[in-house]
Amino acid sequence: MAVPKRKTSKKVKNQRRTHKKLHVPGMVACSNCGELTKPHHVCRACGQYDGKQVVEA
Ligand SMILES: [Zn+2]
Repeated sequence: MAVPKRKTSKKVKNQRRTHKKLHVPGMVACSNCGELTKPHHVCRACGQYDGKQVVEA
């Protein structure tokens, strides 16, 4: 079995992990009530989507 010749240094380890971070979802304000919602999703506060009532609040 192949075995690494050298221990991975802290620098290389940290450089590898620069892309590994928590993802924060983008949020937009509802055009009807101003509540923060996910884009392209029905507003959970007032039930409107694209200016139309699609879910009874
Ligand atoms: Zn809303």
